Amino acid sequence: MKLLKDRILKDGVVKPGNILKVDSFLNHQMDITLINEIGKEFKRRFSDCPITKILTIEASGIGIACIAAQYFDVPVVFAKKAQSVNLDGEMYTTKVESFTHKKVYDVILSKKFLGPEDHVLLIDDFLANGCALLGLIDIVKKSGATLEGAGIVIEKGFQHGGQEIRDMGIRLESLAIVDSMTDDSLTFRD
Ligand code: 5GP
Repeated sequence: MKLLKDRILKDGVVKPGNILKVDSFLNHQMDITLINEIGKEFKRRFSDCPITKILTIEASGIGIACIAAQYFDVPVVFAKKAQSVNLDGEMYTTKVESFTHKKVYDVILSKKFLGPEDHVLLIDDFLANGCALLGLIDIVKKSGATLEGAGIVIEKGFQHGGQEIRDMGIRLESLAIVDSMTDDSLTFRD
């Protein structure tokens, strides 16, 4: 997606630890005009799928998922990071290791909001090692819903998550794939 790639080149900042900071337009301050175009692009790429629900994970996926959901006309449900899991059987639970905080979280989703009748599109801001997306995939499996695919705004193609998820046979659409980045250069996959 050219608009997004141009914006990453203009405003993205590479930080130590393979972190790309895009907090001036995507996940702290949010450029809604750009995110609106991102939402439209997800709809264009998944227009052949009978999506009934968009699933994301708190916090930074939520805003993007909400804007995309307007084009799919479906609800958004987000997995919550929990301090402790109450195993009362009302929740799907999984574990996710945070890339940015290096911490393992329990992640929960109420069984009320996802079930076998659903066709799910996963949406998140970044894909790095794939832990966040694998956690969401695990929740979809537990719910019995059909996973239609995953839409990612920025995939870091030099980390292994994208490859792993494509190897599972999951349809993965990333709007910008960064193949390499250093302090003063950044290249995209075509
Ligand atoms: P993964 O679970 O795929 O290793 O990492 C994905 C999650 O980590 C995303 O939800 C995102 O919040 C965060 N993340 C991973 N890499 C980056 C990065 O380079 N920049 C930012 N801002 N967040 C990242």
